[in-house]
Amino acid sequence: LADIGALVAVAVTVQGAGRIMPHASGLADDWFDHDGQITKRPVRALALSALAPRPGEMLWDIGAGSGSVGIEWLLADPSCRAVAIERDVARAERARGNADRLGAGRLAIRAGEALDLLDGLPPPDAVFVGGGGDDALLAALWGRLPAGCRLVAHAVTLETEALLAAWHHAQGGSLLRIELSEAAPLGRRRGWKASYPVVQWSVTR
Ligand code: SAH
Repeated sequence: LADIGALVAVAVTVQGAGRIMPHASGLADDWFDHDGQITKRPVRALALSALAPRPGEMLWDIGAGSGSVGIEWLLADPSCRAVAIERDVARAERARGNADRLGAGRLAIRAGEALDLLDGLPPPDAVFVGGGGDDALLAALWGRLPAGCRLVAHAVTLETEALLAAWHHAQGGSLLRIELSEAAPLGRRRGWKASYPVVQWSVTR
C-alpha cells in the first residue's frame, strides 16, 4: 500500500510539473521551436495520417524544418525510427533541440541538400516531402523507394502543385487539396481568414 501511495504521489507530481503532451498527432505548433517554417497543426495531422506510422517503421522527413513531422512520427511508437533532412543549418539545429526536448532524441538529422543525402540513408517505409519537392527529387525518390513504401508530398506553390498533379496523373495515389480558414477579428466582428491551400499527394510505391 505504501508503494501505491508513492506511485500516486509521483503521478501527481509529474502531472503538476508541466504541460502534458497529448497522444494524438497534430500537436499545437508552440510545442516546437520554429521560425515560421513549420507544417501547421491541422495540416501536420493530415500528413501524419497519410504517413500512417506503424511499429518499427523508418521515415525520411525531407525538408524537415523544425522537425515536427519526424518528431510526431517518432512519438507514435517507441520503435519507430526517422531521419530528418534539412539544408538550412540553423533549422537543422532547431530540429535537434525540438527532438531532444520532446522525447524524440533518436531522430537522426542530416544537414544538407536532400538529393545529395539520399544514398546514405537506411531504407524507408514512408517518406514525407515537406520541402525541396522538385522533379529531380521526386524522380530520385521514385527510383529508390522499396515496394510498399508510402510517399507523401505537400505543395504550397502553384509550381509544386502542378508537379504533384503530373506525378499523380502518372503514378496514381490520391491528391488532396487542404483549404482551411480560421475565424479571426475583422473590425469589431469576425471573419474567416484563409490559409494558403496545401496540396497533398500520397501514393504507395
Ligand atoms: N515540415 C516542416 C516544414 C518544412 S518547410 C516542419 O513542420 O517544420 C520546408 C523546408 O524544406 C525548409 O526548412 C527548407 O529549408 C527545406 N528545404 C527546401 N529544399 C530543400 C532541399 N533541397 N534539401 C533539404 N531541405 C530543403
